[in-house]
Amino acid sequence: MFVIKIGGSEKINYEGFLEDLAGYDEWILLHGGSHQLDKISTELGHPPRIVESVSGYQSRFTDKQTVELINMVYPGKMNTFIVEKLQSLGVNAFGLSGLDGRVLECKRKSTLKIKKDGKRVILRGEHSGIVKKVNRKPLEMLIDAGYKPVLTIPAVTFEGVAVNVDGDRAAAKVAQAFSVDKLFLLSDVPGLLKDINNGNSLIENIDQENIDNYIDEFAKGRMKTKLLAAKEAISGGVGSVILGDGTKKNPLTECMTGSGTKIT
Ligand code: ADP
Repeated sequence: MFVIKIGGSEKINYEGFLEDLAGYDEWILLHGGSHQLDKISTELGHPPRIVESVSGYQSRFTDKQTVELINMVYPGKMNTFIVEKLQSLGVNAFGLSGLDGRVLECKRKSTLKIKKDGKRVILRGEHSGIVKKVNRKPLEMLIDAGYKPVLTIPAVTFEGVAVNVDGDRAAAKVAQAFSVDKLFLLSDVPGLLKDINNGNSLIENIDQENIDNYIDEFAKGRMKTKLLAAKEAISGGVGSVILGDGTKKNPLTECMTGSGTKIT
């Protein structure tokens, strides 16, 4: 079995990806939805606010209204779309969020320490967390009954409140919880690039011992968190993490046959 996370960028080829995934037997899928969330929240008059933490990681400031928008877009629009597509391909997909059955439990972060105009600022009213515990039982019940789990955010705090979590890091936790050998993180780039403007500058292999150097030297923005997720997965016992290109026709098969950045 493997764990795979497909990103939420506008450029993702969901049709191609899901047709490709339908050919594989044992997996847990996690998915994003950032483009749809940005679009719908802007249309509804609550545009996204992306902030950079003092340690240099980008994230979405998640106030209460943003959690409601996440609940609409991720389990609502995106998860339903993915489950419908898989069902039409003959795959008995079952959609759920990390809140359902407390699959993704976390500790809430209610403040964010960010950088703004070169200064450190504290933002209050944050509704996000870091997944501390994956409750395998609901996923195992689905798998044992022959369903394919399609998991998304929100996660849930230990107090039972829906919160935002990073999808890549959540996928890393799920991969650890199921002791899988491979975790695939597919987004809208071929993998980690030396130069983000040059698609041919792919870094093919990374030894996890050196991953911090790659985070500092090459990764910008959201790619930093993706590499952090890969690092966490491998230190948690996952054999390898592959960063692959979800815009391709058969993105999973391409990764299975050597494309992407492989972190071991
Ligand atoms: P998703 O939400 O689809 O999972 P992210 O937006 O989280 O994907 O991460 C992918 C993004 O990371 C790319 O679209 C790219 O803009 C950015 N990025 C930053 N630095 C790099 C890099 N060195 N190589 C590749 N992508 C990078």
